Amino acid sequence: MMDEKVLKWITPFVVVMTAAVCIGLLFFPKLHEYSVLAAEKRLLREQAYAQSDHASFEQDPEEIVEQTDGGRDSQLKIELPDGITLSDLTIENHYLTRDVFIRIPQAPDDYFSRYRVQGSCDHISAISYYQEKEDGVIILGLDRVFELEEDYQSGNLYLNFLDPHEVYDKIVVIDAGHGGRASGAAKIGISEKDINLAIVLELKGILDENTENIGVYYTRTDDSNPTLDQRVQLANAVQADLFLSVHNNSTATGKFSGISGTEVLFDEADDSELSSRRLAQICLDEVTDALGSSKRGLLEGDNIYIIRTSEVPVALIEVGFMTNRKELDALTSPEYQKQAAEGIYAAILRAFEEGY
Ligand SMILES: [Zn+2]
Repeated sequence: MMDEKVLKWITPFVVVMTAAVCIGLLFFPKLHEYSVLAAEKRLLREQAYAQSDHASFEQDPEEIVEQTDGGRDSQLKIELPDGITLSDLTIENHYLTRDVFIRIPQAPDDYFSRYRVQGSCDHISAISYYQEKEDGVIILGLDRVFELEEDYQSGNLYLNFLDPHEVYDKIVVIDAGHGGRASGAAKIGISEKDINLAIVLELKGILDENTENIGVYYTRTDDSNPTLDQRVQLANAVQADLFLSVHNNSTATGKFSGISGTEVLFDEADDSELSSRRLAQICLDEVTDALGSSKRGLLEGDNIYIIRTSEVPVALIEVGFMTNRKELDALTSPEYQKQAAEGIYAAILRAFEEGY
């Protein structure tokens, strides 16, 4: 009797609540965004949980050094479950956050309580392990950027940690300004972050094809938004020969105007021979040559965080003005974006010719 009464009330209540949520999502799409964010946060919490309470493997990096068995410098030996070889593993090297993810399929829960990571690498600041579905994932936190050389021998993965300068003749860090929720300048529904990324992806296409031995690290190749500190620390951590940031400009008022052209910002505190100012001049010359845009000149940029804190030669290129109708049209066209990328590529090659 009581149950029936409750049921009678619960059914319409559920219907009304469901309708309210659906209408809410229709009229307040941000709610969906919040729930996605909440889901992301939950995932992070679950990962943290897996890494702490449920971690079947936690190892003090100090122990690795004690267990050195006379192998190469900066080499780790990781024992793999039976039947797992190098081609079964997914190894991701996240340069920006300096984490290495090693995903091992079908790793049993207790695997890493029985097996330890052995070897020697003074640059590992944290090791953790978590279980994700059928896979075990080892995360190595590094205190520097390394290139990895992978090797497999009789059931063991060997990881060699190489200084990027051992691998490449020259190193460039490319930064597409803004990203994610930070759109940068915006005009008639067009966001600066998207133009910056489009130019950088064109540049990546050119650099991927180049035959010189140039190592290139990107702060982002998608719509993510690394912190300013992560961006500049990537350049500092790899001791880049060049650090180039790609942006687009807007007038102070943000209104359409006749002002157009290219500007490059530099670090006026850098008085070295191969200075930020000289690099900025090279970028300005090459980009305006490639685009035929007006050469507005160089600007002191020490008030900008990534310029001020860069320990390597830095230039921030403001390719064009989004507040100029004609230039905005050009900036959104793939051909112009490609020309801008070609100009930046020419600047990179010329800087290296000049000894950077
Ligand atoms: Zn910008």
